[in-house]
Amino acid sequence: MEKMKLAIRNFRYKGVIVIVLVFMLISLILLVELYGIQFNYTTKKLDFLPEERIVTKSEACSSLKKDTLVLWNSDEPGAGDIFSQFTVIFDDMKVGRDCVDLATEKLPDFEDYTVIVLLLSDLTPVGEGIISICDWVYGGGNLYLPLTLETNPYSSVVDAKLGIVDCGESYYPVDNIYVFPDFMVGGGESFGIPDGFDSARTLQLSQDGVTVYAATSEVDGVPLIWKKVYGDGVFVAANIGVYDKAFRGFYAASYSLLTDVCVYPVINGSAFYLDDFPSQIPDGNSEYIERDYSTTIRDFYINIWWPDMMNLADKYGMKYTGLAIECYDNAVDGTINATPDTGTFLNFGNMLLRKGGEIGYHGYNHQPLCFDNCDYKGIYEYKTWESYAAMKTAFDELESFCDELFPDVEMAVYVPPSNLLSKEGREFLIKEYPQIKTLSGIYFPDAQLDFALVQEFDAAKNGVVDQPRIISGCDINDFMKIAAISELNLHFVNDHFTHPDDALDPERGAELGWETMKAKFNEFLSWLYGSAPSLRNLTGSELSAAVQRFVAVAPECETYDDKMIITLDNFYDEAQLFVRFNTKIPDTVSGGTLTHLTGDLYLLVADKQTVTVSFK
Ligand SMILES: [Zn+2]
Repeated sequence: MEKMKLAIRNFRYKGVIVIVLVFMLISLILLVELYGIQFNYTTKKLDFLPEERIVTKSEACSSLKKDTLVLWNSDEPGAGDIFSQFTVIFDDMKVGRDCVDLATEKLPDFEDYTVIVLLLSDLTPVGEGIISICDWVYGGGNLYLPLTLETNPYSSVVDAKLGIVDCGESYYPVDNIYVFPDFMVGGGESFGIPDGFDSARTLQLSQDGVTVYAATSEVDGVPLIWKKVYGDGVFVAANIGVYDKAFRGFYAASYSLLTDVCVYPVINGSAFYLDDFPSQIPDGNSEYIERDYSTTIRDFYINIWWPDMMNLADKYGMKYTGLAIECYDNAVDGTINATPDTGTFLNFGNMLLRKGGEIGYHGYNHQPLCFDNCDYKGIYEYKTWESYAAMKTAFDELESFCDELFPDVEMAVYVPPSNLLSKEGREFLIKEYPQIKTLSGIYFPDAQLDFALVQEFDAAKNGVVDQPRIISGCDINDFMKIAAISELNLHFVNDHFTHPDDALDPERGAELGWETMKAKFNEFLSWLYGSAPSLRNLTGSELSAAVQRFVAVAPECETYDDKMIITLDNFYDEAQLFVRFNTKIPDTVSGGTLTHLTGDLYLLVADKQTVTVSFK
């Protein structure tokens, strides 16, 4: 043994062998990078549900116990839109409820409900009933007033009970909202509200039994969300006066303040899409890239943008979902003329896959899947496809191109070019390419074109998941930040997309320069993951699998003095839920794990159909 050690120590070419080994290792790494070699799909974090276990949202909601009563008035201006927003909020939170339209129906018996929601700004249609509702609260009921109230004799009945000591005549401008740190995931700061207007009552609250959760500007601003204990019951009021899709999470979070404990399912996932990636890298130069780096677009993509994006992914554990596009020609007749730079496709695609990412379809070219019944109204200069057969020829080409380059990769995600997809295009994809299980459009309506793919998080019986992307780009503005905190608290989700050419386009922040854009993106990511360390990083398909479970699960809770039992209808293998302990303190958990989020709010990951939480 000693002799052998001596022989090794004295071996003259030891250094050369080390160098040869290092070179062999480098060559192996390069080969793996270039040729793919079996990637991640056997190690997917979350798989799609088997088809027989898929449950739609309406099926899941139909089994809920109806312990909430929603009173609304379809004659109120804007009532229809507000009612629609709250329908999604309550369906997604799996709030079993009866809804009564006071324009056509009388106030029903409400004694047996646990929660009443007055989805009204004018309480007149409730009439004298408001007095008995307040008595019901005093006896242990929970009343939620999400809308900014109109001041009149009926509101004055509840004002004092809500803790309002002073209310001005004028409405207060809500151009930002300060979210108290213990209230919502991501709170503890002020969020700008674009297009804010005089939408809040200018009011002051007493200190007695009142907890404020959100206010204009800072802690001492006009209260926007608060709770008031009244007898054995609770009032929760919101005074924001804005009910857009980007604010849903504020209403979900305030609803959860009502009962002893509130449980609602969430998706728990964070996905980052790279649109047009891999794709042909544009030739030539760009004004801002030239200005900041004195280099070509190609060099910028390969040596600056992509390494920076990979570094961010490493820092925060993000998994990118790239959307492949073969070329940028305008052919819509089925002619195939693409001469893709396959080396670049392979390099980018394989690096993305090796990092645990996913590749989906974007298009053969960037022409949306629309026929001549779609009118782009001059907003886009796209053509429409000449025929179904032409569309099929082009998409087949993309399919075989991706199969060739990434042979063992499941292609299960589709993102439409410019988020435009006709009804016929959607049917075409589902019929012809059954491997596609995720259609990912956008969350917020585009208003201009009715064939933009605007979605809710939803899962269909045929296995196709609607998964809207919520925010985009690196320069995260006030609207996107509001949307981000809202969605963290309604669905516990982040769904984001960016383009490699964002740094080239002044409309997406290019004038700032890539270094500033990157810093802003990093600032957003730092807020996101700092606020929600338990948010799961998922690929597009994994997030869709999470959406299927979220849509299906229907929790039923029984709360006792010493414990609560949560039974999860349609449970498959795991469920993600938010739990707010308003009057109880959790102790031990069986059937899942509880992770503290903020204040009284916890993430419950259930691994059994029945979860028991004991109280301290
Ligand atoms: Zn695109």
